[in-house]
Amino acid sequence: MAGIVVVFDFDKTIIDVDSDNWVVDNLGATDLFQRLLPTMPWNTLMDVMMKELHSQGKTIEDIKEVLKRAPLDPHVISTIKQLYALGCDLRVVSDANMFFIETILKHHGVLGCFSEINTNPSYVDEQGKLRIFPYHEFTISSHGCSLCPPNMCKGMIIERMLAEFGGEGTKKKQLIYLGDGKGDYCPSLKLREGDIVMPRKNYPVWELITANIKLIRAQVHEWSDFEEQQRILFKLIHHHCNSSSSSSSNGNSQCHFQTAAPMVSALPPALPVRH
Ligand SMILES: [Mg+2]
Ligand SMILES: [Zn+2]
Repeated sequence: MAGIVVVFDFDKTIIDVDSDNWVVDNLGATDLFQRLLPTMPWNTLMDVMMKELHSQGKTIEDIKEVLKRAPLDPHVISTIKQLYALGCDLRVVSDANMFFIETILKHHGVLGCFSEINTNPSYVDEQGKLRIFPYHEFTISSHGCSLCPPNMCKGMIIERMLAEFGGEGTKKKQLIYLGDGKGDYCPSLKLREGDIVMPRKNYPVWELITANIKLIRAQVHEWSDFEEQQRILFKLIHHHCNSSSSSSSNGNSQCHFQTAAPMVSALPPALPVRH
């Protein structure tokens, strides 16, 4: 399945909440967050909130404990593990931050299944305070995309991936993109014919896509819950297996998934993580 790259948004696509809100709410800082939100970009505000929580005595361990409790449907874990075991290239593109994403994926034992996490950088400073920075340094220059927030244009990240796959001598790859939010619309517009976009039904990206479906070159497969997300992904990969097995000498050995797909628990466990 080296021919398939599955790109996941993180908040409300892998976990079932927004990780920024989850941390702020669970550490009792919702009021301050709401008060400051109209005054600065979201990503800047998250850095300010981490500073504020630190001054209130909240530690990195407190933040980690809250992140570990973030709701994550068990289907998502099995989806990630099985896609990885099948050799799919799994990546994250998210406007959360590296610390939140790594903490959660590591806690659920799937961090090593991802080859790339594209998100806002973050680190714990010498005082034990979490610092969060923009992916795109917008105070120096703008990324120039009017659809996206100043700190991150997910469409540019997808364009970079497509250029990487499309280079001369490289094998053609199919990209499957999953998302829910407004920020997932720009990357959806960049996908090519033959790619697939999976918007979460009744969420902002689904509203934007369905409002003018002609603008989307990729196939559109909506999903409502994480069981359906899994079912559609497995079906798409099954289909990819069938269509590519004739051109590949070992196509069938890669595709035992196709017979096991309806029996999720019978599939082999994930391979050991790489890091
Ligand atoms: Mg999201
Ligand atoms: Zn954009």
